[in-house]
Amino acid sequence: MAERMLQFVRLEQQTPDKRDAAERRTDFDEIYARFAPEQAAAQASRCSQCGVPFCQVHCPLNNNIPDWLKLTAEGRLEEAYEVSAATNTFPEICGRVCPQDRLCEGNCVIEKGFDSVTIGAVEKYVTDTAWEKGWVKPPRPKQELPYSVGIIGAGPAGLAAAERLRLRGWQVTVYDRYDRVGGLMIYGIPNFKLEKEVVLRRQAQYEAGGIKFVLNCQIGKDVTLAQLREKHDAVLVATGVYKARAIQAPGIGLPGVMPALEYLTASNRVGLGDSVPEFESGALNASGKRVVVIGGGDTAMDCVRTAIRQGATSVTCLYRRDKANMPGSMREVKNAEEEGVRFEWLAAPEAFTGTDKVEGVRAIRMHLGLPDATGRQQVEPIAGSEFTEPADIAILALGFDPEDLPAMFEEPALTVTRWGTLKVDHRSMMTALPGVFAAGDIVRGASLVVWGIRDGRDAADQIEQYVLAQKSLATAAE
Ligand code: FAD
Ligand code: SF4
Ligand code: SF4
Repeated sequence: MAERMLQFVRLEQQTPDKRDAAERRTDFDEIYARFAPEQAAAQASRCSQCGVPFCQVHCPLNNNIPDWLKLTAEGRLEEAYEVSAATNTFPEICGRVCPQDRLCEGNCVIEKGFDSVTIGAVEKYVTDTAWEKGWVKPPRPKQELPYSVGIIGAGPAGLAAAERLRLRGWQVTVYDRYDRVGGLMIYGIPNFKLEKEVVLRRQAQYEAGGIKFVLNCQIGKDVTLAQLREKHDAVLVATGVYKARAIQAPGIGLPGVMPALEYLTASNRVGLGDSVPEFESGALNASGKRVVVIGGGDTAMDCVRTAIRQGATSVTCLYRRDKANMPGSMREVKNAEEEGVRFEWLAAPEAFTGTDKVEGVRAIRMHLGLPDATGRQQVEPIAGSEFTEPADIAILALGFDPEDLPAMFEEPALTVTRWGTLKVDHRSMMTALPGVFAAGDIVRGASLVVWGIRDGRDAADQIEQYVLAQKSLATAAE
């Protein structure tokens, strides 16, 4: 091993080529190229094969990173793919969208003094290669089992559970109110971070493996939860969080003030070739407009970068704290800056101006005060510092809360936390309703794709244990 690995002292960190900002502003294609084979092997060889790999500890899936890096460095890509796919349902997606700077790479020990191993880019390279070579197979089980699960939500959590149970022979049906599979991976995350073909090819594999999708089907409206419980041995709720957090401010109802997801979904649909009347009418299209986005998270970064690509004349991001305190990934902020987004740090909206439609966002400058009990610095307005940012479109990217699931499902027995997320037993992942489990954002609150995958995989194991125990109890009672 030794001569192949530990190359960080000799080889510098190299990230995959990033397209020039001037070019990428004009299209929705992904911005990073893929490693060339020799580049991937060289970058993987920088790993020092730590005895206690902190990268693995800080990966929500506890991916066996040192092993697949070593296999990649040795050119044994099929094995690298198998090791990587053993713990991750969508390695090629995590390689693209995980905030690696806060997870695996941010905890790579060679970062101290040297730049970290480019774990995410190697993970993406290995699995994209696996797709090209035909190593990624539909989840066809060795034998069919008479157990059935109904999964509500075809996002990463629902799909991860679906694949795991199907591989073990279960009869799996996934219900989704959307017309496509993928949840926020298809209609939330923009194409320039995750090309939609990457998600759609997974859907095709799952269908080929025998997973049934019932799309355009909203549970609670088209079918009740009670009907699903009748039909399946267990049900998994993986519905995500979609209620946009609002602010109270004069002018909030003016045309042109819109929630982030409405704007991003329209853009993603257009990219997928759908006809979107609100885009065609201009209501959800930033072309030729001055755009102000309010918020400092990854959703805000996706909005500003989408507006740039749609041809906005100016794009400004208002955030009430400073750059160092932004909740989003620094990599995304840097990409946005390169693409021409202007940031107004320490500025909070007070009102939306205009009569028939929004014409500006009146904001006030803030300063950072003392930390509160959580250690986060408080922000306070600076009297007399108001200013107005002209806007034809104002996008609110302030976060998401869960919808009222007990009401939506007409199941008052389904208990929720004070944040509205579903309450589950944290070991069994079961809700207050026997046989109904929950996973992903609907349990955690707005989170990450990689956590959705982790929860979905864990929920599949819990569902299996529960149903097998129920069946053996029933057999014993006969
Ligand atoms: P979702 O992906 O939300 O999927 C839930 C599914 O349930 C949806 O398809 C929905 O249609 C369906 N559903 C809901 N209610 C019903 C019902 N009643 N009946 C039938 N179907 C229903 N994470 C990252 O890791 N990296 C990123 O770069 C990133 N960028 C993001 C950008 C945006 C704009 C947003 C909004 C989120 C982003 N995230 C990112 C977060 C990530 O997408 C989510 O954490 C993840 O998708 C949650 O997975 P999930 O399976 O729990 O829910
Ligand atoms: Fe890093 Fe995400 Fe891959 Fe884990 S899944 S190794 S956190 S990129
Ligand atoms: Fe390799 Fe870095 Fe992980 Fe150590 S922490 S095993 S050097 S990737």
